[in-house]
Amino acid sequence: MPKENELGGLAKKRDSSEFYSVIPKGYVPGKTKYVVITGSVISGVGKGTFSSSIGNVLKLYHGLKVAPLKFDGYLNVDAGTLNPYRHGEVFVLDDGTECDLDLGTYERMINANLTKNNYLTAGKIFKIIIDKERAGKYLGRDVQFIPHVTGEIKGFLRNLAVESKADVVLVEVGGTVGDIENSYFLEAMRELAYEEGRQNVCFINVTYILKPHSLDEHKSKAAQLGLRKLMEVGIQPDIVMCRSESKIPEKIKEKISISANIPVSRVVNCYDMDIYAMPEFLRKQKVDNEILNILGIKKTNGMRPEFREWIKLLEKMRKAKKTIKIGLVGKYTQVKDSYISILKALEHTAPYLDARVQVEWIESSRIDRNKTGEALKDLDGIIVPGGFGARGVEGKIECIKYARENDLPFLGLCFGFQLAVIEFARNVCGLKKANSTELEPETKEPVICILPEQEEIQGLGGTMRLGGYEVRIKKGSLAYKLYGKESVRERFRHRWNVNPNHIDVLESNGLVFSGFAPQKRIMQILELPDKKFFFATQFHAEFTSKPLRPSPIFRGFLKACLNR
Ligand code: GLN
Repeated sequence: MPKENELGGLAKKRDSSEFYSVIPKGYVPGKTKYVVITGSVISGVGKGTFSSSIGNVLKLYHGLKVAPLKFDGYLNVDAGTLNPYRHGEVFVLDDGTECDLDLGTYERMINANLTKNNYLTAGKIFKIIIDKERAGKYLGRDVQFIPHVTGEIKGFLRNLAVESKADVVLVEVGGTVGDIENSYFLEAMRELAYEEGRQNVCFINVTYILKPHSLDEHKSKAAQLGLRKLMEVGIQPDIVMCRSESKIPEKIKEKISISANIPVSRVVNCYDMDIYAMPEFLRKQKVDNEILNILGIKKTNGMRPEFREWIKLLEKMRKAKKTIKIGLVGKYTQVKDSYISILKALEHTAPYLDARVQVEWIESSRIDRNKTGEALKDLDGIIVPGGFGARGVEGKIECIKYARENDLPFLGLCFGFQLAVIEFARNVCGLKKANSTELEPETKEPVICILPEQEEIQGLGGTMRLGGYEVRIKKGSLAYKLYGKESVRERFRHRWNVNPNHIDVLESNGLVFSGFAPQKRIMQILELPDKKFFFATQFHAEFTSKPLRPSPIFRGFLKACLNR
């Protein structure tokens, strides 16, 4: 590691200096190690799966404190304004950050809650820089990609190191090498390695080995070119992970080894497999040992209990005998990634009940009033997930009605909760015109209305009621039975809620609000006590469900489905 006075980004501030560094208070160089994961050839081959599995092994197996960071090259400041039917689900962190669904994968894989410090977009970096420039923080300098943009990026990483007290900061660079979008980010990573010392940064490249059908043999040229591109920007990979559809032959590994200056033992191959099996697979390939060696981290004490639990869960998944059929009632259900956390929650919760889940996609705009029963027959339960806007709503309400009248287990999440209130108001309380002001602004019976605190807010980004809030649980309710306590914390993302003026009429007709906000009249869980499982939450129970800590709500729901 260079001495401090000659150390690029870490040098002391001098007005005329070409160095620009943001060193957060309490940062100790060399204390935190960095693993930087880049992609080459093509995107979408599971860089996130691989990165989060590395995190899983380092944390769950070796007991290291791991702080992941996902960098996305798009210019949005966060994912809040992204259309989930285009980009996939908007995941919400406890602190209210709206982020890429990959952060959900990290939370589930490393069994930890993340914060805004774990998520960086190009938009966020540029916003930091432009805000600083307007405030005159660059002391009259012309603000440049190098050193300022790269300096802020390194500062963000070091801040994460300080805040999280992590042993290892795991950086996943979105996109592939050669993209304009991540070029300055890669430059920042090159500088980081220089400043922190090469022994403190481990570079892993996830590449793709093609196997064209016409040749029926693996070809490494594209991967070699991708790796060369990476080395062109001054980054020497330490490990190359070759993704492929099927196992690659030794000679391909040798070609990669020669072209990327790394021993064959550091060329690993990972073919298509289930994410839950990936950590164990990486262990068997000794990828973790290579990383620890490169970073000079002393061997840890061996398998921690958390990893043993993970393996047990994997076995349960493999052995699960029963199948539960769940209908997911949504719109545009062909974009499966827009409901990924729900799918994952079902997938990792069912094995605890010796079961697996088969999801049937129910396109709500195609639900025919008179044939709802036909669409839902054969199902063990239905979920009405979160959503926005009027399209397909009446179909969803029909499904909820059917579930209530036929005692089919029903779980409503966020929008699903609001629609359950509308259905109950219309068909049980006799408020035929009941609706949400989101769907019908002039409705005569606004059982769902906008929160007063939301009314004045302008703009769309980050303006909802977002993130973790306390939920009080009513004793003696099903919610209490599931949680086993009177206070829980769950994550929200909404603007509308149950109109306080209608709570009495709903309750006097038998609807029980078993979860609510501590000080305000904000209803957060509803249930029908005479049904097997008719339950809905204003929050997104799916966001907190983790393989090692499945949500009690999902567990209760699936249990009810099994008992049918
Ligand atoms: N559209 C509803 C609201 O804003 C529900 C939001 C959601 O399901 N996430 O309150």
